[in-house]
Amino acid sequence: MRATDQAADERFMGLALRLARRGWGQVWPSVAVGCVLVKDGAIIAQGWTQPSGRPHAEIHALTQAGAAARGATAYVTLEPCAHHGRAGPCCDALVDAGTPAPSLRWKTRTRALPARASLACARAVFRSISG
Ligand SMILES: [Zn+2]
Repeated sequence: MRATDQAADERFMGLALRLARRGWGQVWPSVAVGCVLVKDGAIIAQGWTQPSGRPHAEIHALTQAGAAARGATAYVTLEPCAHHGRAGPCCDALVDAGTPAPSLRWKTRTRALPARASLACARAVFRSISG
């Protein structure tokens, strides 16, 4: 990774972390998450977990971006969820929106997240690039 890529990653992830703070104390039983969608070096959407926990940050951002999300990089402060709860998994939504596999980046902020989320994301990305 080039130094400039790393600097950009840190800047966008820093923004995602600041966005996540907007949900602190308001999103239970979900987790306060931030998501920034970047395309061609420009921010195209900023999402965060909404009050009461829905929609999740990724969906909030994808809704803003619409079709422009195709090919965008997703910076997410928590590994995108893979479970079917009150809504479908964000993993699938990111893949369906066309965020490319090599650019799906996230940093896990908690150790409580089950490993199956990673596996589900990997499977979803594999489906995306192979299908
Ligand atoms: Zn989610």
